Amino acid sequence: MGGEQLRWDGQTVVVTGAGGGLGRAYSLFFGSRGANVVVNDLGGSFKGEGGSQTAAQKVVDEIVSAGGKAVANYDSVEYGERIIQTAIDNYGRIDVLINNAGILRDISFKNMKDEDWDLIMKVHVIGAYKCARAAWPHFRKQKYGRLISTASAAGLFGSFGQCNYSAAKLSQVGFTEALAKEGVKYNILCNTIAPIAASRMTATVMPEEVLNNLKPEWIVPLVAVLTHKSNTSETGGIFELGGGHMAKYRWERSRGALLKADDTFTPGALLQKWSDIEDWTNPQHPTGPNDFMTLLEDAQKLPPNPR
Ligand code: NAD
Repeated sequence: MGGEQLRWDGQTVVVTGAGGGLGRAYSLFFGSRGANVVVNDLGGSFKGEGGSQTAAQKVVDEIVSAGGKAVANYDSVEYGERIIQTAIDNYGRIDVLINNAGILRDISFKNMKDEDWDLIMKVHVIGAYKCARAAWPHFRKQKYGRLISTASAAGLFGSFGQCNYSAAKLSQVGFTEALAKEGVKYNILCNTIAPIAASRMTATVMPEEVLNNLKPEWIVPLVAVLTHKSNTSETGGIFELGGGHMAKYRWERSRGALLKADDTFTPGALLQKWSDIEDWTNPQHPTGPNDFMTLLEDAQKLPPNPR
């Protein structure tokens, strides 16, 4: 990768939930760097209620008045095929999809209603699926595609009062990891971000002085680098970023315990080796399910834990 001024001339970027917050910041950036931008937003409340065309249209107007190219789409991401069709109808192609639309329905698990769960799944899980599903054939045919999924620290760690949102956000990781594996031979590169930024979503939970240091624009450079054609290898990455800091995540596995499938294969034997399960002194960093089979082979050869 390299280059001071990354540009997207001739490419079409679809940003979902782009009427405000992070999506707006992405759209304005891509619009200023030569892309045709599809600015999607349903224009509802942060709880997923109501709808209006104003939010998306305002962003389109901003891009166009600055000399860029953009069209609005007002569909819910549940109808991802219509959003991608807007790109095809107006620009004849789609090169980059940023799955960004999101809502919150925060409530303790005890008080959660099916509606709170279902709506979160609809927007985050079904929405991301539908948009990617509709973009995929185009990506494959042109042997080019860049996709960003939006997870959250709530998904990576779980967050009090957000079990619906946490579940939906971690689902973005599994979804995108699988897409990255299926896409790579067609030059479709897919990465996940867990951003933290000032927006109407965070406005009620963080003080102003903290929010001032979490500008949505500061999320843009990483998204830009990952979705530019000069990125030819970064795929399946999970990045956490905010306030100007950005870092990558990976899985870590403890040393672990190996029990033999004979008469020593008992809960009591496991309890005796419990500290091995929590032994992080020599961790591994698995990158796929096959690593577990290698681990099993290696574990047979390992000497007992010297502790
Ligand atoms: P935001 O509320 O400003 O933006 C979300 C946008 O999505 C809104 O404009 C909303 O109208 C739109 N939207 C909601 N439902 C939609 C639907 N069904 N179809 C189309 N558009 C829809 O919030 P934001 O902070 O900019 O959030 C952007 C993304 O980042 C979300 O996926 C959010 O979960 C994620 N995120 C944000 C933070 C943060 O700190 N701001 C942290 C972690 C994850």
